[in-house]
Amino acid sequence: MQRIVHGTCIDLSSEGKGVIKLQKDIVFVDGLFPGEEADIELLYQRAGVYFGKVKKLFKLSKDRIQPKCKICTSCGGCQYQQIDYKAQLVFKTNRVKNAIKRIGKVDAEVKPCIGAKNPYNYRNKIQVPFSKDRNGKVIYGFYKENSHIIMPVKECAIENKKAAPILWDIKLLLEKHKISTYNEDTGKGILRYVLIRTSLHFDELMVVLVTSTMNFPGQRNFIDELIKLHPEITTVVENVNSRHTNVILGEHEKVLYGKGYIQDKICDLTFNISASSFFQVNPEQVEVLYKTALNLLNDDKNQVVLDAYAGVGTIGLIASSKAKHVYSVELNKFASKNAVENAKRNNISNVTFACDDAGKYISSFDGELDVVIMDPPRKGSDEVFLDTLINKKVKNVIYVSCDPETLARDINYLSKYYKVTYIQPVDMFPMTCHVETVCLLTKVKNN
Ligand code: SAH
Repeated sequence: MQRIVHGTCIDLSSEGKGVIKLQKDIVFVDGLFPGEEADIELLYQRAGVYFGKVKKLFKLSKDRIQPKCKICTSCGGCQYQQIDYKAQLVFKTNRVKNAIKRIGKVDAEVKPCIGAKNPYNYRNKIQVPFSKDRNGKVIYGFYKENSHIIMPVKECAIENKKAAPILWDIKLLLEKHKISTYNEDTGKGILRYVLIRTSLHFDELMVVLVTSTMNFPGQRNFIDELIKLHPEITTVVENVNSRHTNVILGEHEKVLYGKGYIQDKICDLTFNISASSFFQVNPEQVEVLYKTALNLLNDDKNQVVLDAYAGVGTIGLIASSKAKHVYSVELNKFASKNAVENAKRNNISNVTFACDDAGKYISSFDGELDVVIMDPPRKGSDEVFLDTLINKKVKNVIYVSCDPETLARDINYLSKYYKVTYIQPVDMFPMTCHVETVCLLTKVKNN
């Protein structure tokens, strides 16, 4: 096969890459959109598919816009920033439609994706690696897609705007106080990452310094100066990660300033968020997502609900006002502990929490469940969990999914016994190819 090919983009892959069909081969191309025609340089082949990059564009999509961020084509975070937001929503709706039809093999209406009011600067959690460039200057930014090369970024178009000036001053203070940055190859140096968490409803902001060792020299002056420059910072936490790993956070933590957590609200409940807590990253859209899901609960206050894959308990706690009792199950022990605290924080007493595998938990659950709300990670649910839904004759299942393809696979698995009566995509991650979907499955047949 020649290295340069010519073709027209006919579709988008689930990773948001343009799809070109040649006579025998399929090519996935970054930053190429349906209807566009281009010369493509083939880069490599994986699992029978070629991956290529645009060499020359001949025909542009009418939905192309000037992206806000210069590196959006190489950082891998924002596959759709070059496309008008309305068209992004159409792409997302189509991704869900295709998955439901092709993988789910069911005939069900997919409603148009609900967009975000503010598609830029929505992210409340910002994490960036720090390093040095060849001239010894401190740099921070994002890793180039599939690499550990840092591309310096001063402002990211989807992050909360409060983060950029703080990150810039951290860079200047590191240089001033001669605090080293971590070198992944040698394992030497101090600062590895900075994580910033912002709050939508409270004037609170957390800075987490991820370091290779506890109590680095110059720490006190560094933090005093940072807080003087940015009084909006309400807490600073040091997280120590001494391992040679891609995982950002380590296990040890020390509060250097303030109370060690921030608070935020979703649907009138307040949640404490610590450095390592899981919390949805789009705080405005999460309300839209949860309301879409919880509108599917009826008003029967006698119902017993299971919130599976519960994270820090948010969905179940919000659902508790519409239920007699909510059972909440989550595998991660930190998130599960946070969930218990969140119930106390909001004076909610009709929710029981378990830290367990969702499939194991539901299959040994003694008693009836009227509704199961499930929000699994990208890989979807498993057969133990889905078989138990069928065997327990659960009437209504509200499936919240962050991956249309695994959602469709699970729907297909259930389709003999459950009818899909509602499918609503919700855009939690504007500018990216990701999409959440809320689905209602209603029992139509017993096994
Ligand atoms: N419902 C929550 C979290 C969704 S993310 C929210 O809206 O915020 C999916 C969650 O599933 C994560 O918290 C993850 O830790 C958890 N999880 C992953 N595998 C699991 C399993 N086998 N059993 C239970 N929980 C699991």
